[in-house]
Amino acid sequence: MKILIVEDDAVSIRVLEAFLEKWGYEVVTARNGNQAWEVLLESDAPSIVISAWMMPEMDGLELCSRIRGKDGSGYTYVIIVTTKARKEDLILGMEAGADDFLIKPFNHEELKYRIRAGRRIIELERRIQQLANTDPLTGIFNRRAFMERLKAELERTERGNGSLSIIMADIDHFKTVNDKHGHQAGDLALQEFTRRLMKLARPYDFLGRYGGEEFIACLPDTNEEQALSIADRLRRGVEEMVISRPGEANLRITASFGIATYRGEAGKDDVDRIISRADDALYKAKREGRNRVCACQDGES
Ligand code: GH3
Ligand code: MG
Ligand code: MG
Repeated sequence: MKILIVEDDAVSIRVLEAFLEKWGYEVVTARNGNQAWEVLLESDAPSIVISAWMMPEMDGLELCSRIRGKDGSGYTYVIIVTTKARKEDLILGMEAGADDFLIKPFNHEELKYRIRAGRRIIELERRIQQLANTDPLTGIFNRRAFMERLKAELERTERGNGSLSIIMADIDHFKTVNDKHGHQAGDLALQEFTRRLMKLARPYDFLGRYGGEEFIACLPDTNEEQALSIADRLRRGVEEMVISRPGEANLRITASFGIATYRGEAGKDDVDRIISRADDALYKAKREGRNRVCACQDGES
């Protein structure tokens, strides 16, 4: 785990850094709140901050308030190191959102265990985030998490004048799989289906379980023609898949796919509109006989 030390005194930094590294942490340092803030805005920013209170430019409490005001990526655990030991000072610090205090001069063993307490909070928060965003059966994004990312990706596309496509996929006659082979076999089919899509998708595509046996993929920087070819690769991949079960008959499934591409300036596309067009395309694929890919034609929907 990464820890950010914020401190204007070079000697204190060096001493603290040596201990933290000895305890196995990766250390990043900053000389004041401003520098620290820059570090915290980067992707993969440290989750634990050990900051002095008094510093030039931006002090530890202002840094702390800023951290608490920042939304997005995970919790940041803040320990303030200070010589200010009066109750009023601690209250001020807590008001600013500090998680913990260390009064100078402090004992290094004490610091070690206080950091460990912080680490537990961070790990717990990450676990909760993961549970909240993941579909338990398949391990991919659940609908809410997918929609959040799709919205961000669509905004990015709008800003950059790029393209973006989405694919809606629905397993064909899935009710029959459950009816004939049981719910467990159905679950296994959903897992294998997901695994296959993940394997065939590109690293920057992302997938979500939209509901039941319906899945959705976001393909950034992808026009309709490319999306058609990717969807057909997925379709063939599913068709070729043999799901084996010990002591039981193999399962085979097919799926239907609907594509919608962001329309750019013609558009005023939002998440709901693009999904609704993909949904229409999917139902066209179903109507036309299943195990096929359809794109939403302009003028439809
Ligand atoms: P179509 O080709 O028109 O899509 O037909 P279908 O049978 O796939 O569609 P329908 O919507 O009638 O049935 C979907 C089935 O998916 C019904 C439901 O029991 C099953 N299902 C949804 N979620 C799960 C799940 O988590 N596990 C299992 N085993 N089955 C599920
Ligand atoms: Mg279905
Ligand atoms: Mg369905």
